[in-house]
Amino acid sequence: MDKPKILATHPLFDLARWILEAHLDVDYWQDAAQIPRRELLARVRDKQGLICLLTEQVNIELLDAAPKLRIVANVAVGYDNIDVAACTRRGVVATNTPGVLDETTADFAWTLMMAVARRLVEGDQFVRTGQWKGWALDQLCGTDVWGKTLGIVGLGRIGRAMARRAAGFGMQVLYTDRSRAPESVERDLHAEYRDLNALLAESDFVSLHVPLTAETRELISTPQLARMKPTAFLINAARGPIVDEAALVSALERGKIAGAALDVYEQEPFIHPGLRRPNVVLAPHLGSASLETRTKMACMAAENVVALFSGQRPPNALNPDVLQKE
Ligand code: NAP
Repeated sequence: MDKPKILATHPLFDLARWILEAHLDVDYWQDAAQIPRRELLARVRDKQGLICLLTEQVNIELLDAAPKLRIVANVAVGYDNIDVAACTRRGVVATNTPGVLDETTADFAWTLMMAVARRLVEGDQFVRTGQWKGWALDQLCGTDVWGKTLGIVGLGRIGRAMARRAAGFGMQVLYTDRSRAPESVERDLHAEYRDLNALLAESDFVSLHVPLTAETRELISTPQLARMKPTAFLINAARGPIVDEAALVSALERGKIAGAALDVYEQEPFIHPGLRRPNVVLAPHLGSASLETRTKMACMAAENVVALFSGQRPPNALNPDVLQKE
């Protein structure tokens, strides 16, 4: 019997390829550049499975172009690039990669926070450009992180990993979420619930860890930034459109907040010119980018696809209703 045909929009890693190729006939997009939309729509036409990245929009147009499609496996935990409801209507299973990237992404959000507070990027530039002429008492003084108040917006898997890190820095942890965490979780993490406005007003560092949804789009805009302390920093390693970038630039220009550290942007890879400031750290969407974690994510996506075509339930189905209907 012919193996099911799969399109992978990236060559993936060897481990993931081994998982896939034992069971499936896989067409990999090999270029370093992202697959052009027209090419994606053409290549997916005869495929039963798609392994995609967050840079690919899986919408009605793509589903229309792929009449045989049964599964879309996103190599990411966030799935704002996938119209899950449309997939469900077409009987297409959608999967993501939760859990395997929590610590790596929290490490990176923490790195951003430390970098902006302690002016690491400015210091690096200072040294590289030959401006450093020796130690000085008041040179590039930043802000302490230890002992300060961390406000976590979204106490899910990654938000909780941030709270665990805060314990080692003697920080007070506040969190907000659409639902309050169980008492045992609050106790273990020493995390106190606040509504968003109170969290913004009390925190020295506000770190975003909600998914991008209709409710969280521009969750942080002018009124929210106005509530933050002028000494506070905004960290975003979640998704760009959660922050209204024009409002952030205006708040930075007017000194309404002390700085920002960003891994994600409204229209990647476009960077709002107003963000190119010394008190803003800019990273190119690296949150989960360790070789170990990206390999695990690719393997997880592969395992979901293999499960479906082996007659099992994909472990990370976002729309398990589709499986019940089968
Ligand atoms: P998660 O475990 O689902 O946590 C998200 C938390 O946000 C949950 O507690 C959720 O509540 C809460 N939430 C959802 N909508 C909300 C709203 N409207 N208002 C307040 N809280 C809300 O997800 P995760 O694995 O921690 O990942 C979080 C996000 O990080 C992902 O969706 C992804 O976009 C982003 N991310 C970015 C990178 C990167 O490379 N920079 C890497 C990994 C992840 P419920 O439990 O009630 O849903």
